[in-house]
Amino acid sequence: MQSSFDVIVIGAGPAGYSSAIRCAQLGLKIACIDNWCDKKGLVSLGGTYLNAGCVASIALLESAKIYQLLNHNLEEHGIRAEAVSVDIPQMMQRKNSIVNTLSRQIADSFAEHKITYIQAKAKLLNERLVEITPLDKTASSILEAKHIILASGSSPIDLSCAPIDNEFIIDTTMALNLDAVPKRLAIIGAGVIGLELASIWNRLGAETILLEAQESFLSLTDQQIAREAYRIYTDQGLELRLGARVISAKKGSKKVTVEYQDNDGTHALRVDKLIVATGRKPNTENLAAAEADLLLDENGYVHIDENCRTNLPGVYAIGDLTLLGPMIAHKGIEEGLFVAEQIAGIHNPVNYELLPSVIFTDPEIAWVGQTEQALRAMGESIKIGTYPISGTARAQAVGQTEGMVKIIAHADTDVILGVHIIGPQASEMIAEAVLAMEFSASSEDLVRTIHAHPTLAKALHGAALKLKSKG
Ligand code: NAD
Repeated sequence: MQSSFDVIVIGAGPAGYSSAIRCAQLGLKIACIDNWCDKKGLVSLGGTYLNAGCVASIALLESAKIYQLLNHNLEEHGIRAEAVSVDIPQMMQRKNSIVNTLSRQIADSFAEHKITYIQAKAKLLNERLVEITPLDKTASSILEAKHIILASGSSPIDLSCAPIDNEFIIDTTMALNLDAVPKRLAIIGAGVIGLELASIWNRLGAETILLEAQESFLSLTDQQIAREAYRIYTDQGLELRLGARVISAKKGSKKVTVEYQDNDGTHALRVDKLIVATGRKPNTENLAAAEADLLLDENGYVHIDENCRTNLPGVYAIGDLTLLGPMIAHKGIEEGLFVAEQIAGIHNPVNYELLPSVIFTDPEIAWVGQTEQALRAMGESIKIGTYPISGTARAQAVGQTEGMVKIIAHADTDVILGVHIIGPQASEMIAEAVLAMEFSASSEDLVRTIHAHPTLAKALHGAALKLKSKG
């Protein structure tokens, strides 16, 4: 194997694989090193996002939605289904096969672009050298490159009061690999991951209780949308206990006892499974040798400048490793492309202001730009238009009427400052808002844009029209 490259990428998650492929497209000689393997020890490119995150979660949620439809919502369609049952191992097999297909597509793309893929654990020795140790820990070797891109991702944060055993107290990866529906399930953390997992298991029949330390719900989301989400989720049967800080979790022979504190004192819950979904931390442990002097902050995030450059010349860090932007796959992908192009002499920076956020629950939540509370805190002069999803003929026809679209524009200039959606296909609908805002569109521009009828996107048009009538 050759040992000298233009670029070495450490990590083959969305940030790493997109960076490696873009580097290759720009004529650079690339090696990409990744140590993820599946339960059988086989290569599985794609990182957390593919193997134990978004894709796995969306695949299971889709199955759960079908199960719920068959169980509860078919009669109004005039369809009767009898003896509907759920086969979790088959559901997991479908999810795994989707993951495998997508992972193979990355491997095929690596082969097509002549990227050298190495399944190993990589360690940065200095700004030019990377040590690689095969997973069977046989002899290490050293590779050299002119540029090194760190993209080793993140992993779940442990909670010392709820130690993971992956039988009763499980992490977010195991929560996507259960072999049966727990009768009673508690989830610590009502953040993005907690809510996405709750949406799956609640639909499959688990009594699901979310314990969230914060008093406010989805504090980074526009609070009008968060209130709507809270109402919809609780109507769906999710039990959301806010201001509930978990202080201990003990497993018995068949159940877990979770203790938490809220304003009323200390409470105990007995559940069949407990998922810990209390955030993620960057994978920087052992990523660099001490002598490399890679600068990290006190929480282990790699220190970078606005161009994703670390303190070591020629070494970049992207994706979940840094605090520049949220831990979301498409942020990593954009940074991967940006760094690859930077190395090739093209300057095409990421517009962090317009990164869309998505929560893949049902209904979905998606937004771009500023929230109403942030704009009011900044003293901006704003106007707001909202439109219910139920106001669109499409939503009525498909029977998914929950949710709303909210557009915030500058009161004087009419330039759109934020778009917030809760509803079916919100993750798809937000693309129009991102594009509009990339072109500094006004709400008038949205009004003048012809939307196909009947579509869910007509709710965006409806919200823009409401703004116009106030302007
Ligand atoms: P999070 O920080 O969004 O939520 C964790 C929650 O756990 C917090 O609200 C916190 O208050 C709560 N918590 C912590 N300790 C607690 C305790 N002892 N008792 C009760 N509650 C406690 O983290 P997450 O949901 O794990 O997600 C991690 C990261 O991954 C986030 O940055 C998220 O945006 C990202 N992510 C994004 C997507 C997506 O874009 N769809 C999907 C998955 C993950």
